[in-house]
Amino acid sequence: MMDHLKFINSDISYLQKLLAEGPKKILILTHRNPDGDAIGASLALLNLLKKLHHEVSVLVPNQFPDFLGWMPSVPEIIVYSRHKAKAIKLFSEAQIVFAIDFNDLSRIREFEEHLSPDKAYKVLIDHHPDPKKFADLTISNTEVSSTSELLYIFFKALNLDKYIDKDTASCIYVGIMTDTGCFSYNSSRADTFLEVADLFKYNVEKDKIYGLVYDNYSLNRMRLMGYCLDKKMKFLPEFHTAYISLDSSELKAYNFKNGDSEGFVNMPLSIEDVRFSAIFIENTEMIKISMRSKGNFAVNDFCAVHFNGGGHKNAAGGESYDSLQNTIEKFVNLLPKYKNELLKD
Ligand code: 5GP
Ligand code: MN
Repeated sequence: MMDHLKFINSDISYLQKLLAEGPKKILILTHRNPDGDAIGASLALLNLLKKLHHEVSVLVPNQFPDFLGWMPSVPEIIVYSRHKAKAIKLFSEAQIVFAIDFNDLSRIREFEEHLSPDKAYKVLIDHHPDPKKFADLTISNTEVSSTSELLYIFFKALNLDKYIDKDTASCIYVGIMTDTGCFSYNSSRADTFLEVADLFKYNVEKDKIYGLVYDNYSLNRMRLMGYCLDKKMKFLPEFHTAYISLDSSELKAYNFKNGDSEGFVNMPLSIEDVRFSAIFIENTEMIKISMRSKGNFAVNDFCAVHFNGGGHKNAAGGESYDSLQNTIEKFVNLLPKYKNELLKD
């Protein structure tokens, strides 16, 4: 049977005491450009803590993608870029702050000034490598598929799993499903499947959720995907690399919304021989970069060293404050340096 506690390698007794004392004001934060795992874990935590009569809010730096809009409790999510005054009030009142699905304050730059060191008890729950020390309690594990899976284990460790209901289980499932690309990667542990089997006992509607997440895109997004593959993907066979770039006029032409490019960076990896793929998207403040790899090439290191970023070995991201053209040039010029690594399996 599963030994859940082995994944929680920090002392959770103080948090347990705080939560048991009585209703607390709790703020749940997640990273910029929140994805299915960030939103899934945040909403699962919100649902469960509300059942325990805490006063809970979820705050995200910017808009989450439309394909997550159907999720339970989504209307309760507060988007910082649109509700700053409300967010600042929540920061000032919070007794417990949860940091969900990120481990580096650079991913919540908007919030940093509000996170004063002594005010609230800070709990980090995350599965990315190299957590930075900013929380009072760090629950970090890179072996799990997703933060949502770690949250489920955390609920068990706190003996709170008895409060899980269909909504909470569905949110956890969305996080696991999206962070594993529907169980195509990061999901080789038997325990992940045992946990998912547990979640299905709460009547999670697996097929319906798949459709809501993956068969619910706008026509514009599908056309943009076609445009990327046909006209924008560059293939550099010498380096087993392919990349896509989108400038602001192209985004405008397709009425681009946050989340529309979700999954695009994975597509070049389906080409035989492509082991490294990247996408560069021109935002108003920066070029947002996502990278993926197959095999041993560590894109988190590549992003950390060259593009102010990080992430997982095979899925990472970063930012560039240079022009789109210069950023792409920098990327292409770096490839010869990594040729040997890219040629290795
Ligand atoms: P995505 O490409 O799907 O946005 O992100 C892939 C992975 O890289 C995620 O685990 C995400 O947390 C991480 N990541 C994406 N962008 C950044 C970034 O700018 N900085 C850091 N440290 N990690 C990032
Ligand atoms: Mn995640």
